[in-house]
Amino acid sequence: ADRISAIKSSLRVIPNFPKPGIMFQDITTLLLDPKVFKDTVDLFVERYKNENISVVAGIEARGFLFGPSIALAIGAKFVPLRKPKKLPGEVISEKYILEYGSDCLEMHLGAVKSGDRALIVDDLIATGGTVCAAMNLLERAGAEVVECACVIEVPKLKGRERLKSCGVPLYALVES
Ligand code: 5GP
Repeated sequence: ADRISAIKSSLRVIPNFPKPGIMFQDITTLLLDPKVFKDTVDLFVERYKNENISVVAGIEARGFLFGPSIALAIGAKFVPLRKPKKLPGEVISEKYILEYGSDCLEMHLGAVKSGDRALIVDDLIATGGTVCAAMNLLERAGAEVVECACVIEVPKLKGRERLKSCGVPLYALVES
């Protein structure tokens, strides 16, 4: 509980970024405090270390800040899920709809194998659209998605409900 409140206090909100009207949850201030940063990683590691997770899939870009540390600590491989045209090898892609327009995530072919047990990691879940696309990529590669882990959940955007309808549980450290 102490660790969670320290994490909460380490976050900041930047109004009108990247567009007017958006309250941006900034996690870079959490990374500035090594104790809080470590507590964040530890909380995930404690939850997942005995779950036989074989792959941690991190979502570009801020899922890359937490995913690899968790993967190393639990003995899983790390697979980056990237925006289009960033990965050099052959990829599978998954398009998803945003409030305005659409976006896409890609994963290297062969990085995830049938039977892998996957944990998806990102910094924040809002509508859940990004994580659903990540889940589709992993399932298309034959993985079982065990859970989606993030630092911040924005409950009013109902990402948790959306994930539930895809059958994936959500674990978030703080709500905002
Ligand atoms: P969703 O697809 O759930 O609607 O949006 C979540 C994605 O957008 C995540 O990849 C997350 O990094 C990014 N995102 C959206 N809003 C914010 C925000 O306020 N702060 C941060 N750090 N990321 C955000």
